[in-house]
Amino acid sequence: MELPAVTVSQSPEAKFREYLASRPRPQRFTDQQRDMVRFIFSQHHHFDAEQLIDDMKRAGFQVSRATVYRTLNKLVDAGLLRRLELGPRMYYEHDYGYPQHEHLHCEQCGKMIEFQSPAIEATLREVCRQHQFHANGHTFIIRGTCAECNRARMTKRRLDLV
Ligand SMILES: [Zn+2]
Ligand SMILES: [Zn+2]
Repeated sequence: MELPAVTVSQSPEAKFREYLASRPRPQRFTDQQRDMVRFIFSQHHHFDAEQLIDDMKRAGFQVSRATVYRTLNKLVDAGLLRRLELGPRMYYEHDYGYPQHEHLHCEQCGKMIEFQSPAIEATLREVCRQHQFHANGHTFIIRGTCAECNRARMTKRRLDLV
């Protein structure tokens, strides 16, 4: 399930290249980094570093673990990805070209459901205004059990009663 994309003026690759070039000490855009950016932006989902390494290897890419971790940090810094902290694990998802949204995370099956809520956004803006706070972003995750897992649990309970 993907939310509709937001129109952006540059490709993620171009934006990242620009970020690297504008650092105090400009950095080279390596082939591994290019492969990573293309791979990550070919599909919107929530992934952690180890998953990304496995998926890229399976797709035939050569990436070193150190490069993946370093590049993920840079992609967050460049505004392309954002972090989602889920318990002890750190997940990433598109920030660039993707609308602001919130999450429901199923603790049974691991599913991540995205939703948008103008009411929540308005409330957050109001809270920031009251505190004269300049927000750079937020992460909002509701933990619980999804509809399918709830149904499965109810069915099991009913069977247990028989
Ligand atoms: Zn579930
Ligand atoms: Zn998301």
